[in-house]
Amino acid sequence: MEKIRLTKEFHFEMAHALWNYNGSCKSIHGHSYKLFVTLIGTPISNTQDPKNGMVADFSDIKKWIKAPVLDKLDHALLIANEADAKGLSTISQMFDKLKIVDYQPTCENLLIDIVGTVKPLLPEYLSLHSVKLCETATSYAEWFASDNQ
Ligand SMILES: [Zn+2]
Repeated sequence: MEKIRLTKEFHFEMAHALWNYNGSCKSIHGHSYKLFVTLIGTPISNTQDPKNGMVADFSDIKKWIKAPVLDKLDHALLIANEADAKGLSTISQMFDKLKIVDYQPTCENLLIDIVGTVKPLLPEYLSLHSVKLCETATSYAEWFASDNQ
């Protein structure tokens, strides 16, 4: 059976600040992130199956990613737990989605976090092939299953 890679693209807006960094991402600011989730599998070959001919329904991929990833990150502010950011959470008028994470919220670490969230949610017949997270129009990080076996 032929293996096919299937990619769904998502967008979200998120703010972060990099603790103890020596560049412009040290200050709280936002990015328009693009996320590409690529699954690999074999198209269903069963005329009785409503998903016949599909590796996965694109709308199902959206469902798997939306609540656990997009809804949590969109318009959130991510701050490393090393920063004394707890005071920010007391300003409820400004920070409804303040996430204090146990990692430096770089594009790379955010990608690892997203991969860890998505992998267990996929049905057994699908594998996560790769995930690409674009922080800007010209900068992105990629995770490949083949690099992490
Ligand atoms: Zn940044």
